[in-house]
Formats: sequence, structure tokens, C-alpha cells
Amino acid sequence: MSIVAPKLDMLPKSDFIIGKSLNGGGIRDYDHLYPADASLTRKVPVAGKEEVDAAVRAARAALPGWRNTPPNEKRKLMLRFAQLIRENGERLKRVVNAENGGIYHQLDWFVEWDADLFEYNAGYADKICGEVVPIWPQQAFDYTIDEPFGVIGILVPWNGPVISFGQMIAPAMAGGNTCIIKPTEFAPFSCLFLGELALEAGIPEGVINVIPGNVEAGEAMTKHPGIDKLHFTGSGNTARKILAGAAENLTPVGLELGGKSARLVFPDCDWEQAVQTVVMTAVANAGQACIAGSRALVHESIYDRFVADCQAMANNIPIGDPNSTSTVMGPIAHRLQYDRIMSMLDHARSEGADFLSGGESCGGDLESGYFIKPTLINDPEAKLEISREEVFGPVVSLMPFKDEDDGVAKANDTVFGLAAYIESTNIKTVHRVAAKLDAGNVLVNGAGGLPTAAPFGGHKQSGVGRVGGIWGIREFLRTKNVHIAM
Ligand code: NAD
Repeated sequence: MSIVAPKLDMLPKSDFIIGKSLNGGGIRDYDHLYPADASLTRKVPVAGKEEVDAAVRAARAALPGWRNTPPNEKRKLMLRFAQLIRENGERLKRVVNAENGGIYHQLDWFVEWDADLFEYNAGYADKICGEVVPIWPQQAFDYTIDEPFGVIGILVPWNGPVISFGQMIAPAMAGGNTCIIKPTEFAPFSCLFLGELALEAGIPEGVINVIPGNVEAGEAMTKHPGIDKLHFTGSGNTARKILAGAAENLTPVGLELGGKSARLVFPDCDWEQAVQTVVMTAVANAGQACIAGSRALVHESIYDRFVADCQAMANNIPIGDPNSTSTVMGPIAHRLQYDRIMSMLDHARSEGADFLSGGESCGGDLESGYFIKPTLINDPEAKLEISREEVFGPVVSLMPFKDEDDGVAKANDTVFGLAAYIESTNIKTVHRVAAKLDAGNVLVNGAGGLPTAAPFGGHKQSGVGRVGGIWGIREFLRTKNVHIAM
């Protein structure tokens, strides 16, 4: 199968959006390679301290104007932006495909979700209000005002920057903040394109600034006194460095981190659906999803049969060109991540891993791209490192559990707490187990989506704070109290 090159004329024109669309600059150029065949997509200028300083100046300059824009005007502008996202949906899908090898015919929901994030949060722009606080014993009038933090610095990873953009910027804007988003040089294009659309929608210059970059820009943002709140999506190790950097100015930080989420499969599950969700965990976005249920805990009474059905399905997944309608699974987003996953697989092999499927890259026509086969590992006692560490790739470990208590104990036996999954048709089991799982999100019976109106975030080492719904808006507001003696 030959790989169809992405349509490069669809890519955004900008290298940075700092107030306005800019070309050139940065501390160096990065050769962005299309992950399906490692061909050069385009050279990407990488932001350094200079771009961070300029973006902070632009965001601070825009802040009074945006903060004081009447809430109904904010709402209208955000709705216009959402409409433009929909109208440019085909192009946005091409851009996402080019930046990280996303499968073109599977990307409609990205467009829908992003537009929906701006529509949903636009609805809050004119509904943010404070409260009156009852006072005693003396006469006084006491009330609260929910105010924007100011300039929000947003650091996002490469697996779905198009969604991170809406998840953070939409509620931050609705709350009256201005934003600087830093995607990585591995996947810079969707954020730049959305930034261009925002300007076209009439959102004032400086409200949304986009500066693709890596560690240098990330560190500069983390320590910048002109940034009032940071929101970081990424790995726990980087989060530790961000917290240390943010300590300099005591900048508050929201964290959306990784996971090693468990899926508990009970004997009364919807069998086909449960098999499919376990295998699709390794397949969808090539497993590069923070909420992936990458530990499948299966009741011992059905373990052997369930494992066999998963194995059969995983070995027959069509892998290949992200622009072909017959493709179900695409490549890993970039070379560094591909190498990281391959070295984890090699290590698992050295530990004696029992691979039910995959465990290796795809050869043949796909050899030049970053393709790894969907990998299921039979690891009954969870002995392998790969069954405990986040892979962020197409790998699911399977292990049996004895009864409900054993299943819950094994599911919670991790430093992470992002998501947990239950496959059972017994409503009592579902509610009882959901209450016992130590995770920010419990998804039941094949549920995989994150509704715009619901809170999303992690327990334990999977994060601090929530995105989504009113909980997401509150992340970008701070409460002032006014107390008036009467
Ligand atoms: P990463 O931690 O390497 O990088 C994330 C961001 O931080 C990038 O923008 C990167 O350039 C920047 N960065 C890196 N080092 C930095 C430093 N020292 N100072 C400041 N910024 C720095 O993560 P990644 O490899 O890009 O993404 C994978 C991770 O992201 C996984 O752990 C995954 O679970 C997590 N993730 C979480 C969510 C969520 O919503 N919880 C969503 C997607 C991905």
C-alpha cells in the first residue's frame, strides 16, 4: 500500500500567532515529518524566550479590552468562531492528518467537539456571576465577583492539540482571560490554523496567541511573571519540572496528566462490545490517548475465552495509510515517541512478555513510517514494567481478577487515577464498583467520549483540577469578596 501525501496547501500560513499572524523567527527550525512515511511536511520555526516574551506582551495588551468586552459580545464572537471551525472542518481534518497522522475519515468528531467546546463555553460568557453572602450579626452587605485570572499560559502535548485548544481556551476566554498556547513542534499546525480562524472570526488580536515550541519555550512560560495561571497537559515527569518552575512566582498550575487506566470486564458484560473496546484501546489514535484503558482486568471465569477473542480481533486490524477509507489504525505521531514505545516493547520482551498480538513495528510498505502493530500482552500477575507504566502507544496488558474486591483492588493499584472503565450489564455492579474506583472519570459499557458539559481530570498523579462543563470555567476564574459595612 502506498502512502498518499497530505495536502500541504491546506496547512496554516502562520509560523506563530503573536497578536497577528507572523512568519519566521524562533530559535531554530524543526523538520516536521509526516508520520506515515517520514517525508518532510514543512520546516517549523520553534519558539524561544523571545517569542514567549512577545506573546506575553500581546496577551497583556489585549487583556483589558477582552476583559471589559460586554459578555454578550464575547458570546457572539465565540459563536462566530465555532461556526468558522465547522465551515472549515474539511481543512481542519487535513491539518490534523498532516500534523500527527490522524486518520482522515475518523476526524469528524474532532471538528464537532472543538466547535462544540466554543459553543458550550460561549453560553457561559454572559452567565458568570457572583453570589450574595448572608452576614451576621452586624449590618453589612457581602458579595462575590468571579474575575478572570488574566493571562493564561497553556502547554499541550502532540496527541490531540486541536482538542486541548478548545478544552482550555474556550473556558478561559469565556471567563475574560487572554491566552498563550504552546503546542509542540511535533504537532503545531492545528493550533496555528485555529488561531488564524479566531482572527478571521473577529476575536481581537492578542486574545489567542499560538507559539509552537518545546522545552525552551515551555520553561520560559513556566517562569514568566507576566503569566497569571498555567495549564499543563502532559506527562508527570514534565509536570514536576513545571511545578518547580512555577514556584518562582507562585503561579497557580492546573495539571492534566497521564494514566494507566483499568477496564474491569465482568462475566455479564456485553461480550462483543467489551472485546471491541479492549482492542480499540490499542488501535484508536494508535493508543496515544491519556484515558486509554491500557490494563484490561477480566474476570477469571471468562479470561481464557475473552483473551482469545481479543487476540483474534487484534491480529486483523487494517493498519496503513491515514488517508485511505479502509484504514482503521494509523501511525505513531512522531519518531521520538515511536522509539520510546519500541524500547518499552524490547524491554518487555527481555522480561519474558507473552505477546498475544503485535509487539513489533509494521514492515513492508509501511516500513518508512512510524507504524506499530496493536499489541496485547497476557500478563496475569502484572509483573512486567510495561503493565504498570504509561506507554502512550498501542499496548494493552490483560490480567484476570477473582471477584469484585480483587478487581477493584487491582484497578486502584497504581499511582495514576485518570479514568477507569466497567463492562457489566448489572446496574448494581456498575454503581457499586464506580463508587470504589479511585479515578476522576468512570466510563461504563463502551463509553469513550468526553461530553463537553462533564468534568474531566485525574485523581492521584493524573492531575489537579478539571476541564469541561462549569468545572472547567471555574479553573479560569478567581473569586473576589466585597464586604460593605452598612
Ligand atoms: P510532555 O510532558 O513531554 O510535554 C507536554 C508539554 O510540555 C509539551 O508542550 C512540551 O513541549 C512541554 N514541555 C516539555 N518539557 C518541558 C519543561 N521542562 N518545561 C516546560 N514545558 C515542557 O508530554 P508529551 O509526551 O507531549 O505527551 C504525552 C503525555 O501527555 C502523556 O503522559 C499523556 O497521558 C499526557 N496527556 C494527558 C492528557 C489529559 O488530558 N490528562 C491529554 C493528553 C495527553
